[in-house]
Amino acid sequence: MINMQTNQMLIGGEWKTAKTEGALYDPSTGKEIARIALADAHDVDEAVEAGQNALQGEWGQMSAVERGRILARIGHLVEKHAADLAALEAQDVGKPYSQALADARALARYLEFYAGAADKVHGQTIPYQAGYTVYTLREPFGVTGHIIPWNYPMQIIGRSVVAALTMGNAAVLKPAEEACLTALAFGFIANEAGLPAGALNIVPGLGEVAGDALARHPGVSHISFTGSVGVGSKVQSAAAQHAAPVTLELGGKSPQIVFEDADLDKALPFLVNAGIQNAGQTCSAGSRILVHRNIYDALLARLVKSYQALRVGPAMLDLNLGPLVSAKQKGIVDGYLKRARADGLVQIASGEIVADAPAGGFYTAPTLWTDVPPEHELAQKEIFGPVQVVIPFENEDQAVEIANGTDFGLVAGVWTRDGARQMRMAKKLRVGQVFINNYGAGGGVELPFGGMGRSGHGREKGLEALYGFSTLKTVAAFHE
Ligand code: NAD
Repeated sequence: MINMQTNQMLIGGEWKTAKTEGALYDPSTGKEIARIALADAHDVDEAVEAGQNALQGEWGQMSAVERGRILARIGHLVEKHAADLAALEAQDVGKPYSQALADARALARYLEFYAGAADKVHGQTIPYQAGYTVYTLREPFGVTGHIIPWNYPMQIIGRSVVAALTMGNAAVLKPAEEACLTALAFGFIANEAGLPAGALNIVPGLGEVAGDALARHPGVSHISFTGSVGVGSKVQSAAAQHAAPVTLELGGKSPQIVFEDADLDKALPFLVNAGIQNAGQTCSAGSRILVHRNIYDALLARLVKSYQALRVGPAMLDLNLGPLVSAKQKGIVDGYLKRARADGLVQIASGEIVADAPAGGFYTAPTLWTDVPPEHELAQKEIFGPVQVVIPFENEDQAVEIANGTDFGLVAGVWTRDGARQMRMAKKLRVGQVFINNYGAGGGVELPFGGMGRSGHGREKGLEALYGFSTLKTVAAFHE
């Protein structure tokens, strides 16, 4: 068992209490499950200072290979505690247990991947004028800030905090106020694995207080933000006050495009799962299904059947879907559905909330909507709930136009057996990742991830993240 106090912050290797506390709720029951610390600006100051001290001390002096060894040790402990971490996440986020377990394993895999990469990011030598030797050094930024949402805390810690540590930065993590138990558990595990004090600091708290203080802190040299477009813009403005670079991983309204030659047997489970995974609270959810007119009715009939079989219930029952994360999130999703009904849109199928789901939980049945006009808000806005729209198209050009016709540009799926069309579509889609005859590629930690347009900028995951979490120094030595 992970033996931690939930109402504490990790600063300089020590667990500390804050002046104020908040409550965490289990979305499956609506009941309070833990007290958490709510860090204030002073706590954030201390966390940044602890990071700076770590960079002056053991952590800053450590070789890349040794950093990698520590990350590998953390990874082994995450793997060992995977079941406990999954239970914490299921309770905190409302995520079906097996999805939470997959997240814990993904975090272990991030640690494995980056542990191995720590001593393999090299500078270059550059041929230059006679008498010069020129080379580049990859260096950490310094203290990096990480502001993350509640939907995939473990995976986002893996691709953001772990990548920053790999390059020798000292990290200050501000988890979301709705769900921060696995972030705290990660801090506990990192301490146990021997991560030097101050290399990782964790300050749970309110976005407008702790998050804002971190984004505008002059001692923070890089900010990685994952969350909504509105807050991302605020964070970027705050960081701009001290010219700190920002990575923004924001929302999406991602299309899954099904051409008439697609293998529908293979496509069907992906099409549905991409919309309902984590109850649709996934930035890369495939929330728009674009279908060629010639196969529209046939595919729709199969989607309807799949939806009717979906079951929603408490996270630990491990059904297809758990609840939404909060009463607030449920209110937002229900609002979209109510407006869609008022506008006369057609809800063609839905799943079912099981009878023994506790009355206080934040449950919403998944719904499938047909013939949705591409310009309607149901097909434009990120709903962040289990809602998928099906839209017909006549030809490839129209599919591209509809697919690219939102403010977002995170990922896209394309289903076709035509190789030339696969290549054309991959080029024409304005997104950060294209999946051909699959969706999500199993989450691969090796694959650079990030958006275009309002989905953000910068790339995390893969080796690319290591360039993002480091800066480059050019040394030009003149020696005749
Ligand atoms: P959110 O933007 O409300 O919150 C995200 C984080 O920002 C939280 O830690 C919050 O406390 C903090 N925050 C809030 N106000 C702040 C402020 N003024 N200054 C600094 N920090 C502040 O997002 P959410 O509702 O928690 O998460 C859902 C959003 O996250 C969705 O839009 C989703 O698409 C996006 N998301 C994106 C990715 C991705 O990789 N692209 C992954 C997961 C989630």
